[in-house]
Amino acid sequence: MRILLVEDDELLGDGLCNGLIQYGYAVDWLKDGISADQALKTENFDIVVLDLGLPKLSGISVLQNLRARGSIIPVIILTARESTEDRVKGLDSGADDYLIKPFDLDELCARLRALQRRSSTRAEPVLAHERIKLDPASHTVSVNGEPIGVSRREFALLQKLLENTGRVISRDHLTQSLYGWGEDVDSNALEVHIHNLRKKFGQDFIRTIRGIGYMIDKDEEEEK
Ligand code: CA
Repeated sequence: MRILLVEDDELLGDGLCNGLIQYGYAVDWLKDGISADQALKTENFDIVVLDLGLPKLSGISVLQNLRARGSIIPVIILTARESTEDRVKGLDSGADDYLIKPFDLDELCARLRALQRRSSTRAEPVLAHERIKLDPASHTVSVNGEPIGVSRREFALLQKLLENTGRVISRDHLTQSLYGWGEDVDSNALEVHIHNLRKKFGQDFIRTIRGIGYMIDKDEEEEK
């Protein structure tokens, strides 16, 4: 899952960026409102973590522009404790949730999972597909109840595909959801992760749609 983090405070931004990467997210960090506005026009993100007090263009304006363009991407805003007004304005401008600084990284991650669940219209926190269960909170995957070890990227890739069963996801979109800007990505990195997932979960588990991307079929129960 790819997060756009917009925060001008170097120390907080750096801590969040590193923390979120440790949790397995791909993170792009921007430090002012104008560059965030630009990036949101051209790039695909899964969630935005948006500070409201930003140089050049306020977080509220970034949010308002985003919603004016019709984007429904989940946004969580970061505000100071005393600014009730900001929080109300943020929520009324289309934010989905907020956190008051200072906050705990664990809480941010739990809220990110909740937003991601809601945006994929899932009620269940655990993703289940045939014999496979993926738990975003504990970062574990099991087959028939037996835990299976997967790398951070494999986990993120599997989660993305399981959240979109029955839909083809393009190579570009998958690669973007796994890697942030400035990360060195081998041209066949995605294929390597797919190969590893197939080795662990079965060759037919992930389908290659030639020239487009990859998909996991809906399981029979989901089709009913
Ligand atoms: Ca700020």
